[in-house]
Amino acid sequence: MRTASRIAQVPPYLFAQIDKKKAEVAARGVDIISLGIGDPDKPTPKNVVDRAVAEVQNPKWHRYPDYEGSPQFREAAAAFYQKRFGVSLDPKKEVLALIGSKEGLAHLIWAFVDPGDVVLVPDPAYPVYKTHTILAGGTPHIMPLTRENNFLPDFTAIPEDVARRAKLMFLNYPNNPTAATADLAFFEEAVAYCRKYDICLVSDSAYSEMTYDGYVAPSILQVPGAKDVAIEFFSLSKPFNMTGWRIAFAAGNPEAVAALGIVKTNTDSGQFTAVQMAGMEALLHTPQSFIDEMNAMYTRRRDIAVEGLRALGFDVRKPKGTFYLWVPVPQGQTSAGFTETLLEKAGVVVAPGTGYGDYGEGYIRLALTVEEPRLKEAIDRIRQHL
Ligand SMILES: *Cc1c(COP(=O)(O)O)cnc(C)c1O
Repeated sequence: MRTASRIAQVPPYLFAQIDKKKAEVAARGVDIISLGIGDPDKPTPKNVVDRAVAEVQNPKWHRYPDYEGSPQFREAAAAFYQKRFGVSLDPKKEVLALIGSKEGLAHLIWAFVDPGDVVLVPDPAYPVYKTHTILAGGTPHIMPLTRENNFLPDFTAIPEDVARRAKLMFLNYPNNPTAATADLAFFEEAVAYCRKYDICLVSDSAYSEMTYDGYVAPSILQVPGAKDVAIEFFSLSKPFNMTGWRIAFAAGNPEAVAALGIVKTNTDSGQFTAVQMAGMEALLHTPQSFIDEMNAMYTRRRDIAVEGLRALGFDVRKPKGTFYLWVPVPQGQTSAGFTETLLEKAGVVVAPGTGYGDYGEGYIRLALTVEEPRLKEAIDRIRQHL
């Protein structure tokens, strides 16, 4: 069989490799603590589950869904953006339902990138941006995220000719994997830059509701005129513990939304309408106390992990968003080497920083997705084996 050459260009999916190693160690009888994958450990809110159970019974939803998403879901998305961010969206033209934002981000690249086009991709970053750029025949131009720059890209470092050839720029704040946050002033700068070079600005807002210490994350669509250049991806996965449901939406520039819609119409046939109705329920009727309690829980876990790691000499920052810690590895170690040591010696799974790009070298990412006693045990085991 002869697969496309583009397949050979795709690096192996990070978590598939980690799972394999993890299985090997588990087979030896080791009790593994997994801080690897970013998947909430708590269930979906009850109101959402109950709504889904009821909606599944509706035979109307047993047929093909609407391509752009059900009107109710898109209206709920617009209402959520109005209430949460003060951003007005036309649910018909500026909102599109997605089968998870990973799907939408991937397909947006196919809607924009011709062979040879440049895509401005942060590094480290969620791997989809770079992988699909390569699959589509585009050229990723790396925007390094470094500690010195608070993990924000430096637009002045992008060469003029690269900026002119760029079709898309990806941003993701609060950020996976660095847990960095951005303020509205940074988003204003990004919008102005993308307007100058006629670049579609993509904001991956998967973690906007997972914030701590009183910090409230902005939407890029709050920047005046952002809709001229920007499209934002909001996922229900992380804030509502719905990673398994596959429901998200894209919002913003109507031309970008329409182009993404063309790729999707010709690829998938939309998410099960009962799931979209459950998504509507999550957006409109989940009590704020649910989000607040989740965030309080992650804050406690964050504090335990940060204080524990600092006591061991790790120079780790205390993030205001996401449920990750971006931890510098001990002097003289590599990301992959230290990840392997932690798994082999301590039975603790983390993600190596290099799984998110070359600028992830020197870091590991911890996901705060286990209960406090397990987290304490993980820190304890790291102490014993260092
Ligand atoms: C988890 C995550 C997503 C994906 O979410 P889905 O809606 O579940 O596909 C997108 N972007 C980033 C940065 C993430 O960490």
